[in-house]
Amino acid sequence: MSERMKAMRLERVSPAEQKPLRLRTLSEPRPGPGEVAIQIEACGVCRTDLHILEGEVTARLPITPGHQMAGRIVQVGSGVADFKSGDLVGVGWMASTCGDCALCRSGRENLCEKATFTGRDRDGGYAKRAVADAHWVYPLARGVAPGEAAPLLCAGIIGYRSLRLSGIEPGGRLGLFGFGASAHLSIQVALHWKCEVYAFDRAERHRQFARELGAVWAGEIHADPGVPLDAAVTFAPAGEVVVAALSRLGRGATVAVNAIHMSPIPSFSYDLLYGERAIQSVMNYTHQDAVEFLELAARIPVRAVVEKFPLEEANEALLRVKRGELVGAAVLTTTRS
Ligand SMILES: [Zn+2]
Ligand SMILES: [Zn+2]
Repeated sequence: MSERMKAMRLERVSPAEQKPLRLRTLSEPRPGPGEVAIQIEACGVCRTDLHILEGEVTARLPITPGHQMAGRIVQVGSGVADFKSGDLVGVGWMASTCGDCALCRSGRENLCEKATFTGRDRDGGYAKRAVADAHWVYPLARGVAPGEAAPLLCAGIIGYRSLRLSGIEPGGRLGLFGFGASAHLSIQVALHWKCEVYAFDRAERHRQFARELGAVWAGEIHADPGVPLDAAVTFAPAGEVVVAALSRLGRGATVAVNAIHMSPIPSFSYDLLYGERAIQSVMNYTHQDAVEFLELAARIPVRAVVEKFPLEEANEALLRVKRGELVGAAVLTTTRS
């Protein structure tokens, strides 16, 4: 007889206002070969979870969402050499890749057509326990609480990949469009690289947050900081923000688009793109991205500003994300359930 555990389950997609996640009691998952079981202490809430809830990103149903999980290993499957029970670890969006296609073989496994994702194709971290492929599990830095480490696992890692794909150089002028969970971590990396950061957001409290974290300027999405940007990253799921960012770029500069789903990008004058400007989408992350970012985050150190919710209040947390009400990142904690 296996043990039982609590999980917040998505059985049918619907708007976040309808609170589609249901508290369920399930059998605790057991690790197969090459897998580990993790007792989850905290799981970050990502905008992608909201897209899954509302059906903009299609998931296996029913599913336990959540792909920024931090906790301790409680069971190790056969063939796992790198981890043991008690290790503090994190798991992000990547759940598996085929390892065999041309993309996987060339270190671009983030683009693998057969990739599976945590909290979309296999049960994720809105639960007391989850199982993960040990290849996509990362040790967490000592001294960082799981609640503060959780947002690093998607918002942080994919934010880091976005920074890199934007081509920003140390000391360059960087625009961050949409100052939420991912941007508040990315700015810390950019400042470590001595970049000048310009933050664009609709909400004054988010602009104020950006200034507090070290942005030299913060304004509305369409505001003009008066200087051309060397690179930009957009985090908002709104196509018009991509055009707004493009219009602030200097010649030869790139806007990296950190979004899994986006409203249509409005048409724009070719003049905005001409001058060898580029729009670069960002998809998932590689194993190397995760290793590099987590190492860098521990060294800087990157500190997540979090608002914690009990696991049972996952619907509430997601609604707050949808409404843009949070400053920093939302994290579910499982201590009570
Ligand atoms: Zn592959
Ligand atoms: Zn995410």
